[in-house]
Amino acid sequence: MFHYDNGLKITRAGLGVDVRRRQQRGFVSHAHADHMARHEWAYATPATAALYRHRLGPKLAVREMPYRKPLELGSVELTTYPAGHCLGSAMLLADDGQERLLYTGDFKLGESLTAEAAELPTADVLVMETTFGSPRYRMPPREVVIEQLLEVIHTAFAEGKTPVVHAYALGKSQEVTAILARHGLAVLQHRDIAAISQVYETQGASLGNYATYSGHPPAEHVVVTLPRSMKGFRLAGLGSVVSIGVTGWAIHPSTQHRLGVDVALPLSDHADFDELLEVARRVEPRRIYTTHGPPGFDQHLREAGFDAVPLVPDRQRRLFA
Ligand SMILES: [Zn+2]
Repeated sequence: MFHYDNGLKITRAGLGVDVRRRQQRGFVSHAHADHMARHEWAYATPATAALYRHRLGPKLAVREMPYRKPLELGSVELTTYPAGHCLGSAMLLADDGQERLLYTGDFKLGESLTAEAAELPTADVLVMETTFGSPRYRMPPREVVIEQLLEVIHTAFAEGKTPVVHAYALGKSQEVTAILARHGLAVLQHRDIAAISQVYETQGASLGNYATYSGHPPAEHVVVTLPRSMKGFRLAGLGSVVSIGVTGWAIHPSTQHRLGVDVALPLSDHADFDELLEVARRVEPRRIYTTHGPPGFDQHLREAGFDAVPLVPDRQRRLFA
């Protein structure tokens, strides 16, 4: 059904899955840079197609795969399901008539204002990302993190400072904006983030009260900009600020220092440890292959009664999750 050749391939469909090198046919689970390449033909949900073209080129060829609408390729039936990670993010179910394989891509089970909630079909084989595959990565409830964020923002306002949220340009920035807007706050976004937000809006995700930052924020506005690790995160005219990092990694006390921000809050768009185990239980696979995570999660799965092995030796650790 599948093989691994420097990336996951659905053999009979001739389809590379989230491979970072150009493929004749490449499935793009979502539009984060570590899942994309300029494929001859990309296969993606309509929202991911729009974001992929925005990021890599407007003329790229895409075969759109709306959620839950099967597509036949090389006698394999391919169906996308929402992954809950960012707008358009998809899991891929491949069914060759004998076996069903589910590839999760990056996913999250909890609530999101900007991504459709994850859906989990059952499968014989599960290939899952395990970014937070350690018991150290148990996230506090989302409402608690949002309360903390609002408190930091209102304290900054009271001190006459501008709260500046550093967030990944695609996904986290739009989610934070939608959360803040829902709580009655006005948001000003870095122009690169605002350009992606425009694509979100054209794809039907409404973010609320936001505009592009153009210097000297008025009082009681929140600014959303890029992570400090990325070029161009600095914005002119901000004055006195309180900087806030939002990432699942903030569960580590060292993260605030590592990101160089005043406050780090664990607002994640990846499944935490308990959600990863829950996915295994709900998909009911005979075998699990793990990718993108700390070593040892396969062991936790085996202890929970699953047949699990890592698919790739993991060399990646993404900073912003
Ligand atoms: Zn991602």
